Amino acid sequence: MSGTRYVYLNGQIVPWNDAKVHVFAPVAKYGTGVFEGIGGYWNEEAQQLYLFRIAEHLDRYAFSQKAMRFDQGPPRGELAEALVHLCRANALRTDVHIRMMAFIDGSGELEATGPVGTAITALPRRRRNQTTEGVSAQISSWVRMPDNVMPARIKCNANYHNSRLATIQSQRDGYDVPFLLNSRGKLAEAAAMCVFIARHGQLITPSGSNDILESITRQTVIELAREYLGLETVERDVDRTELILAEEVFYCGTAAEITPVTSVDRMVVGSGQPGAITQRLIEIYRKLVTGKDSAHASWRTAVY
Ligand code: PMP
Repeated sequence: MSGTRYVYLNGQIVPWNDAKVHVFAPVAKYGTGVFEGIGGYWNEEAQQLYLFRIAEHLDRYAFSQKAMRFDQGPPRGELAEALVHLCRANALRTDVHIRMMAFIDGSGELEATGPVGTAITALPRRRRNQTTEGVSAQISSWVRMPDNVMPARIKCNANYHNSRLATIQSQRDGYDVPFLLNSRGKLAEAAAMCVFIARHGQLITPSGSNDILESITRQTVIELAREYLGLETVERDVDRTELILAEEVFYCGTAAEITPVTSVDRMVVGSGQPGAITQRLIEIYRKLVTGKDSAHASWRTAVY
């Protein structure tokens, strides 16, 4: 497998090809796993790799397991250490994307709550050029699953069938990404990203009661907009027509970072170019995650 030699599996660093699970384990049969995607940023000048907000990722990882009624997994300190060790073992000196997964191993059925396995990979991350150009979004005909159907605020593997179907639909229809409305017809999120709009110079994002994942990047954007741009974000219901009335639309997430959306359902957003607030946030975010801006030092964990 490309670019990485070692995987963390159940307390050990093992070669990529040895990281195996039985095909009839609950994680394979039912998608009984929860995961986190964590960003790591290489700072060439400091010769340092910074992992972003691992405390918040570990909190959500624990909450996801609680919501899915998993047995107790490894202690938090051990997981935090494993993230750093794995980056070192793979000698990663580039931007990285870490995925950590807690999963139900063994041969149980629907009611199985253990044994809980842990797997972590750290892969070199590809850069995207969508940030400067902007992307096209389609309002999906798939509806974001409500929190009383599948727990929307956690990262359970099985939740992603909803995102997957919407993503495939949008791509087959010639768009870059889907936007999913919730069962009340209000904007929820993109397939694995949270959405913001700017209207009348104000930032607005769907509130936590719109079947969204409680995104760490969303929280970061709210904090940075307040601190660096003096903009408070209003968390409320967002209607689909507001997406095309907005001056700016962007989405955010660990993998997507902050990405401008320049059309929705083929209707141009704002000027059709990435907006000024979005561009400022992209710059601020980038400097912060790479440690070029030294603020919020507690958000960055140094690997080397
Ligand atoms: N929504 C979903 C469903 C996601 O999977 C993700 C990616 N984790 C996000 C939003 C963005 O969350 P975060 O900023 O924590 O990566």
